[in-house]
Amino acid sequence: MTIREVLLRRYRLNERIAFGFGVVFFVSLYGAKRVEWLMYVVAACVVLIMCVLVYLETKFRCPRCQVRLGNLRLSLSSKRPVRRFNYCPGCGVSLDSESGSV
Ligand SMILES: [Zn+2]
Repeated sequence: MTIREVLLRRYRLNERIAFGFGVVFFVSLYGAKRVEWLMYVVAACVVLIMCVLVYLETKFRCPRCQVRLGNLRLSLSSKRPVRRFNYCPGCGVSLDSESGSV
């Protein structure tokens, strides 16, 4: 498994978790018109989504040098060669190299 695949796997897992909280958020927001305690669920979903976003921003790191890659995560899977980055900006390791060899 390459470094790019490891990073994409982490990113997509967090993206799915945030999406799940988003679905719960909107369903709870719709139901909160009738049931008051659902507003607590809405507030909890906002906090949890923010936690996922902060996690992505701070813990999304190169496995070799631990430099933060949070601001580059969207270009990991870009199909356009101009937007796609292939090397870690911190240590220069190729993202297509095996993650076990770093
Ligand atoms: Zn690195």
